[in-house]
Amino acid sequence: MNPADLLEQLSQTCPLCNRPPQTPVGGTDDTYEINCGVCSRYRITKEVLLFENLTPEAKSQLSAVVRRHFDYTQHPETITTMNCRELASAAPAKNDVIGKVRYLLRYIARKSHFPGERVNLKGETDYPVCFAASVEEFRYYAQYIVDAGFADGQRMDMHGECQYCLTPKGWKEVERIPMLESPCAFVAMSFSKEGHYGALLNGAYEEAITELFTMGFRSRRKFFGPASGRSSSWECPQRRQLVM
Ligand SMILES: [Zn+2]
Repeated sequence: MNPADLLEQLSQTCPLCNRPPQTPVGGTDDTYEINCGVCSRYRITKEVLLFENLTPEAKSQLSAVVRRHFDYTQHPETITTMNCRELASAAPAKNDVIGKVRYLLRYIARKSHFPGERVNLKGETDYPVCFAASVEEFRYYAQYIVDAGFADGQRMDMHGECQYCLTPKGWKEVERIPMLESPCAFVAMSFSKEGHYGALLNGAYEEAITELFTMGFRSRRKFFGPASGRSSSWECPQRRQLVM
């Protein structure tokens, strides 16, 4: 498929959720940037589109992962042949119902500026916020949090837009099991000129790496300052639970 045909196809259909993108597809011939009402903003390489035979399940996982990434960072994630399967594996397992309910509760909590505020959620476009694969699955979790007393739900229109407000029981549930809020961490170290070389730096650096690995993070980028210290950006592929 030539680049023009690929661009035409992308302008019609988001490759992850199959909906039309909200704005014209940008990027270069090798990497396209999509702005989708469901998946939010992300980039995807031509190689993934042409050569990766992603399953519907992997696509819905990627949709939720890239949306969450943009929601947290305001920067689009780039899906490549190197990372597409690892990114998809960051989503909870298909039948991890409780995990997905927690993502929904935490999403409402995070979007609430204060307890009692109502948060708009439209199943048609917001279903990936709890890693649901469809509107139906989203409604299943949304109904549960209301039935379980974790939230009040109010239908706003005929198109499925609802407002949700966490109850005190819902806030307690959110606080009861803290989860890793962001998939990204940033570590910076600085040493005196003498400490920059040798055991002091290496010991501290390796200790921090071991701890981050234990928590499920992996290194994304490393920067080595010219005068002192090192800094690294880490990303957590499993979004593991963080208990502090
Ligand atoms: Zn999409």
